[in-house]
Amino acid sequence: MTDCIFCKIAGGQIPATMVHEDDDVLAFEDIRPLAPTHVIVIPRRHIPTLDDAAEADATVLGRMLLAAKQVAAQRGLSKGYRLVMNVQAGAGQVVFHVHLHLIGGRALTWPPG
Ligand code: 5GP
Ligand code: ZN
Repeated sequence: MTDCIFCKIAGGQIPATMVHEDDDVLAFEDIRPLAPTHVIVIPRRHIPTLDDAAEADATVLGRMLLAAKQVAAQRGLSKGYRLVMNVQAGAGQVVFHVHLHLIGGRALTWPPG
């Protein structure tokens, strides 16, 4: 996707502070962090929203969770952390390339707003 911000980050056209890279998944620091740890985890391949994901995407979606767990462990977030996926604009999705928010390093309340 030529005008997708996260595809541009994956392609190196927009800089980002990478915290994890493998064949399928990237993780980088959010540009507007909401917590001491706020990392975005994406598939390299463009999938607009979770609603567009298919059976063939099961592996990469699972790898996103495992990458998030790995980054959380590296950050020492042993007390807990939160993974959020906003799906569609009504839930707050602004960037239409599937991503997880990994948020931690401060107290997190439940339920979210
Ligand atoms: P959404 O609201 O779509 O779930 O979250 C998109 C996230 O991407 C936001 O937290 C926003 O701060 C982050 N973001 C948007 N543009 C950029 C960018 O160019 N670089 C980085 N690192 N994060 C971005
Ligand atoms: Zn994309």
